[in-house]
Amino acid sequence: MEEDSSNKYLLFNLQELCSSIDIFLKIYNEYVEKLETHNKLKAIELDPKKRASMMLLLYNYGSKEKLESELYRSKLKFEELQSQLEGRCGAIQKILESNYINCGHCEGSGKVKTEKIERSEWNTMQPYIETKDCPSCQGIGKLKINDTSKKYAKLVVDATRKVIDMSRRLTDTIVNVPEE
Ligand SMILES: [Zn+2]
Repeated sequence: MEEDSSNKYLLFNLQELCSSIDIFLKIYNEYVEKLETHNKLKAIELDPKKRASMMLLLYNYGSKEKLESELYRSKLKFEELQSQLEGRCGAIQKILESNYINCGHCEGSGKVKTEKIERSEWNTMQPYIETKDCPSCQGIGKLKINDTSKKYAKLVVDATRKVIDMSRRLTDTIVNVPEE
């Protein structure tokens, strides 16, 4: 079994994980910004002297209700991405534990199909499909992961889990989000 192509498919999984982290962090920043604005607003809204500061805080949102509904939406999106990231980590973890990754060339089937054309006895062209063992995995459908890739992938997954955990703890310490 070929080890080199397994790196390519594992790397593809890791790249997907990294772009998920990018999106996750962007949504996380937006969520935190809204949480903090909401917090500041709660702290000053009962003070009539702070009306100007209050309006400044709401400048980007229009009204307190609008801010709260956007905050709620950000919360849902944040939680959705969080579980999506956890799912991706779990999937990679499973690959690492099994030591094998599905061959991306044949999508795990072990077979590849190619269209061929045959000349019939009346000299007409007859297309047909030829099925062969996948050249990348030799018909097995899976590729063994080498130790270096495994070590690297494990580092990425562990770091991602830390990012998820940290973001969850941080948002938990800010405030409760008003329900819509
Ligand atoms: Zn294959």
